[in-house]
Amino acid sequence: MRPNEITDWLDRNLLKVEKPARYIGGELNSAVKDWGRTQVKVALAFPELYDLGMSNLGLAILYDILNKQDSVLAERAYAPWPDMERLMRSSGVPLYSLETHHPLDEFDIIGFSLPYEQLYTNTLTMLDMAGLPLRSHDRDESHPLIVAGGSACYNPEPMGAFMDACFIGEGEEGILDIVRTYREWRRSGGNKDDLLLALSKIPGVYVPSFYRITYNKDGTIASMEPQHGAPLPVLKRIVAVLPPPVTDLIVPYLDVVHNRGVIEISRGCTRGCRFCQAGIVFRPVRERPLDEVLEAVDTILEKTGYEEIAFLSLSPSDYRYIGELVSAVVEKYRDHHLSISLPSLRIESFSVDLMDMLETTGRRTGFTFAPEAATDRLRNIINKPIPTEELLAVADRVFSRGWNTIKLYFMIGLPGQTMDDVAGIVDLAHRVREIGRRHAGKRTNVRMTISTFVPKPHTPFQWVPLARAEEVREQIVYLREHLRGGGFHLNWNDPDETMLEALLSRGGRPLADVIQRAWELGARFDGWSEHFDLSRWQQAMQEQGLSWEWELYRERGLDEVLPWDVVSAGVDKSFLQAEFLNSKEGLLLPDCRNHCYSCGIIQNFHRLRQNTPDDAWRCPALGRGKKRQPISPGPVPVKPEEAYSK
Ligand code: SF4
Repeated sequence: MRPNEITDWLDRNLLKVEKPARYIGGELNSAVKDWGRTQVKVALAFPELYDLGMSNLGLAILYDILNKQDSVLAERAYAPWPDMERLMRSSGVPLYSLETHHPLDEFDIIGFSLPYEQLYTNTLTMLDMAGLPLRSHDRDESHPLIVAGGSACYNPEPMGAFMDACFIGEGEEGILDIVRTYREWRRSGGNKDDLLLALSKIPGVYVPSFYRITYNKDGTIASMEPQHGAPLPVLKRIVAVLPPPVTDLIVPYLDVVHNRGVIEISRGCTRGCRFCQAGIVFRPVRERPLDEVLEAVDTILEKTGYEEIAFLSLSPSDYRYIGELVSAVVEKYRDHHLSISLPSLRIESFSVDLMDMLETTGRRTGFTFAPEAATDRLRNIINKPIPTEELLAVADRVFSRGWNTIKLYFMIGLPGQTMDDVAGIVDLAHRVREIGRRHAGKRTNVRMTISTFVPKPHTPFQWVPLARAEEVREQIVYLREHLRGGGFHLNWNDPDETMLEALLSRGGRPLADVIQRAWELGARFDGWSEHFDLSRWQQAMQEQGLSWEWELYRERGLDEVLPWDVVSAGVDKSFLQAEFLNSKEGLLLPDCRNHCYSCGIIQNFHRLRQNTPDDAWRCPALGRGKKRQPISPGPVPVKPEEAYSK
């Protein structure tokens, strides 16, 4: 089908589907380049509904970088909602790009963004609707090159069979290497193997077909054998210094999940929460200069007309210029009704001061804090030491300043958790509400989100079993019964959905057959409760002879070869092992921006950091001369009392 035929078809049929604006393109700041004159055409595919996918900053960054190249164009495609999928399939319309309505199979490269595992079946939908064979080995040089990137690729194995290559880490520079390599390969007239070989030489690129995996009788991995000189493990790619933020943000026609401008103020986190994958894979901490962020605020507002700006960071309170940033933006835009949002703040008095400053811009939002666990003991296990009394003191400060809502994020199913810890959530919530009522009376709201812990690759908890769904269900029932009415609002995850996330997070290559079978059985939009159906996955697992018990509830051996060992996040496995053992003893590892524990980042990126300005990374071992602090040979845990006093 030609692009103009697709456009005509859209004109005739779009009113038959929900929210047609998801499928038309043409938004402010979208880039339409000359198709006929551009050498390399890249489709950036986000396997989620447009309404959510439009808020993804990673895709916006790549789109901006690629379209700034004269010889490259990048266009977008999102997963069609089931009503649109049915309509397109019944009319024989292929998946197309939003910018020029070209079918996806006419692009040179399709880059899938995979930030989370629930998007795997949608990825197959998109490949299939593009008319492409699902498996890499069934595609040749006449097909587009299929590459995936994003946080889920830190375990590339479950989706490896569908991808020609996976990109591990930050793509700002790597995407240009891939495009350059592709262009040179095409000029040379080589076959697909030549292309894969050339790609495997790019730092950060993992070509799944170049690795032979053998298994022991019990299903664990016996060996990983790289072929054709491919590296093992593939070390993630990072940028030494964050490039300037994207300011040409695309403004959608419809109300998407986040209608706002976004600026990433820093990347990485030094806090070392043991459950947090982002805290490991985005190391080291790099911050944007204040001037750059302030300039980006002005430009984004001018180019988009947004009335809200979000400053993104894993821990915004830790951004060294946060106070100056907020006061400068508030001062400048005081009369413009600009809302400023900061994701979850640290539980400390300074956060209340920050929110006080934000108030002057107009909108009064609630406070969001993420203690994750409700008892000091469990917070020590997860290395998120906030004494309960401090938390309550901050809550008191919040309510006394006139706010009446506090949002609290908790996790259940954490390693070492007992029923006392679950009861601790109830107790803590009641104490917070009591404080609120002293100040705000019946208007007090305590909103709680309860998620179930999923052990993630590359974290100190990567070896632990998932909590059983029956136990988690009982805990949710307990919380619902004890946190009813009177200002309490409770949200929780469906344990069935958690099971799937856990399966796909830590599985190996055999899961590819399960994913494909579940998709054939109708699995779509697995992150959406209204579409998710565990029975399809149960059937697929059974047909492939795989066991949930083995995949989810088995404690991995510390010396076991794990499927994701094929890639490295730059943090040594020995560091993670030591941290896992520390967790068992409730020992803490304080913030590493004050003292480096030699997690592996500096050693692994030694060459990169040599050409990097001293203050670009927050790792203290990097400073030259007097500023430089010693690196410890390994984790130096401390007792909780010592950590609290720091
Ligand atoms: S190298 Fe040191 S300071 Fe940097 S992230 Fe690792 S432990 Fe923290």
